[in-house]
Order: sequence, then C-alpha cells, then structure tokens
Amino acid sequence: MGRRVTLIPGDGIGPEVTAAARQVAEATGVALEWETVDAGEPAIKAHGTPLPDAVLDSIRRNRIALKGPITTPIGSGFRSVNVALRQQLDLFASVRPARAIAGEGTRFPETDLIVVREATEGLYAGVEHWIDREHSAAETVNVITRKASDRIVRFAFELARRERRKRVTAVHKANIMKTTGALFQTAFREMATKYPDIASDERLIDNMCMQLVKKPEEYDVIVTTNLFGDILSDLCAGLAGGLGVAPGALYGDSLAVFEPVHGSAPKYAGQDRADPVAEILCVELLFRHLGEREAADRVFRAVWETIAEKKVVTYDLALPAYTRRPVSASSCSAMAKEIARKVPEVDLDAPLPRPAPDPRSAGIDPQLEA
Ligand code: NAD
Repeated sequence: MGRRVTLIPGDGIGPEVTAAARQVAEATGVALEWETVDAGEPAIKAHGTPLPDAVLDSIRRNRIALKGPITTPIGSGFRSVNVALRQQLDLFASVRPARAIAGEGTRFPETDLIVVREATEGLYAGVEHWIDREHSAAETVNVITRKASDRIVRFAFELARRERRKRVTAVHKANIMKTTGALFQTAFREMATKYPDIASDERLIDNMCMQLVKKPEEYDVIVTTNLFGDILSDLCAGLAGGLGVAPGALYGDSLAVFEPVHGSAPKYAGQDRADPVAEILCVELLFRHLGEREAADRVFRAVWETIAEKKVVTYDLALPAYTRRPVSASSCSAMAKEIARKVPEVDLDAPLPRPAPDPRSAGIDPQLEA
C-alpha cells in the first residue's frame, strides 16, 4: 500500500488538470494511494454543500492533499471554499514559487522567486457588513494579529534558510495602514534579528509591484499579508510564464495542501485545453514535501524539457513567445501524456536544456530562414 493522499479534483478545469497531475505522479513509480473527495460544484450536487466534512476529515487523516481549483461565485452564492479550507485547517502559509521554466512565455527568463502569503486572516478574515439599510456603504475589517504575523514571517525565514535563499523582503503598506501594517512590519523586523544569515528588507506594496515588473531577478523570498500576497502571486506567476505554469502549496503545522495559483478558468472547463503544468508542478512540490527527491526532480525536469522542446504544449505556451516562434497548440491531456512519458526517461545529471533563440531576436528575418 502506498502513501495515502487526499485528491480534490475541484471544478471548472480542476478535474482535467488533476487527472493530468495524477498521471504524471504515477509515472514516477512512487506508491501513492489517492483518496478522492468532492468539493465545489460536484459536492453541491452530491451533498448540498461545497465543502463537506468528509473533505476536511480526509485531509486531517492523510495530512497531505493535491487540490484542483474551486469556483467562488462573485457577489452571491456560497462563501469561498478555498478560504474556508485554509481557515478551518489553519493552513496559514501559502507558498507560491515563481520560476521561469526554460525561459518560455516570459519577458523575464531569470525570474526565480517565492511569494509567501499569510493565508488565514487580513482582508480575507470574512468580517464585513453593510453600514446602512440602503446598501450604499460597506466595511471590510482587515484582521492582523501578532501571532499570525510572527508565524508567517518565521516561516518565510525558515524557508529561505532551507532553500538556501539569500534575502527575505516584507511587503506591506505601513505608511497608510498605521496599525495593521505597522504590526506586521514590527513582527518582521523583530524576526529578522533572529536570522542574521539572511538579508532582510521591506517594500511598500505599490513600489513592490513596480520593482517586480522592472527587475524581478533581484527578489528572492517575499513575505506579505493575505490580499497583497494574493495579488503579488498572480503578478509573479505572470512574470514566470503565466498562471498555467504557477504551482502553490498551503502549509499548516502538520498539514500540507498543494494547489495551483490559478482558478477554475470556467471558459476552458471540459475542453481539454487548459495548461496542466501548474497542477503537475504541485506534484513536484508534494514529492519534495514527502522527501521523494528523485521523483520531484524527475517531474520538474520532464516539465522543463517538454516546455523547452515546445512540441507538445498547450495554447498558452504555444502563443508567440518573446524569444521563440509560435507552434500549434496541443491539448491538456496530450501535454500531460508527453510529460508522463518523459518522467522515467529523463537524465537528472544532464544540464537543463535552454531553447534555441528565435532568429527574429537576432535580427534574422524568419521568412528568409526557411
Ligand atoms: P483563473 O485563474 O481561473 O483565470 C484567469 C485567466 O487565466 C483566464 O484567462 C484563464 O482562462 C487563464 N487560466 C487559468 N488557469 C489556466 C490554465 N491552467 N491554463 C491556461 N489558462 C489558464 O481566475 P479567475 O477567472 O479570476 O477565477 C475563476 C474562478 O476561480 C473564480 O470563481 C475564482 O474565485 C476561482 N479561483 C479559485 C482559486 C482556487 O481554487 N485556489 C484560485 C483563484 C481563483
């Protein structure tokens, strides 16, 4: 019997990308036993609730889960299942690595940073109300506690040390948010003194956005509060090649849930069109968490080589990139099959291949080249 892992396919493109990720995980040969549980739309249909207790029980029991995205309707309908899951299981650290893979689909091929987002409080605490009967004014409460700030900044410094990163940058808006921002800032400054081997600095959120789109290669680990982390991690996903290739992980004290940065992309649901890479790279992170280093390395390298070859890639990676010419788009399942095929074959000792530059970037007319 293998290691039991909770599998939450989710909704929208979730079932397609989690099936792809499972296929790649199985290609490594690591014995896993999937315990599939429904959340989101399928759970509403089957159980009348988007987050049945069985989901929480399964994650508590197995302590590890692979999750697909789950839709949150805007304005009405059920409360976010994603937020509820993080709060109920106290999954306080959302870790989102932004690595440009094979330099594809990005203007910033050197991007390699990690966003660490506090995931249980802030403006996601769910404390909001209308101020008047006419619904002409409303308030949302930004809940920041010293306890949650301390544990997320400690988590970021520990992660930096483990991953041999050199610097942690705290992002806040303490100049305007003079209580909540300052509380987070103080927690960061005090924690930084305990990690003299790691450099630390701070940016205001607005400046950080500008800095990131100018020189992302200068950043290493970024730690921030819930909403700023949500926004920055999408921004960083864009820097690294797009939402289709951005994995993520949620950690509590003893639980870990791996889910991509992207949402349920309803317009692509059921079309076998979505990029499976983000969910597949969640499997890489899951294997690292389980100590299955070779399996993790194989998954990462198989993804890298598939993207570098650019023969079997989904539409988002087939678009005219910044360095290479467009190719025809493959389906989600075809790309997953190609990555799974490579997993047992890749040479872990060989240098990671860099794709040949597009002749256009060297000033050669591609029309003449043929
Ligand atoms: P989204 O991430 O679903 O989509 C944003 C854009 O990226 C769209 O153009 C989409 O087509 C594209 N995209 C996303 N994933 C892709 C993939 N794998 N391959 C190719 N293209 C991809 O964000 P949204 O449209 O703002 O949200 C849709 C729903 O997902 C909402 O209900 C939202 O609440 C939910 N959501 C869930 C999670 C989660 O489950 N953790 C995260 C974010 C959003």
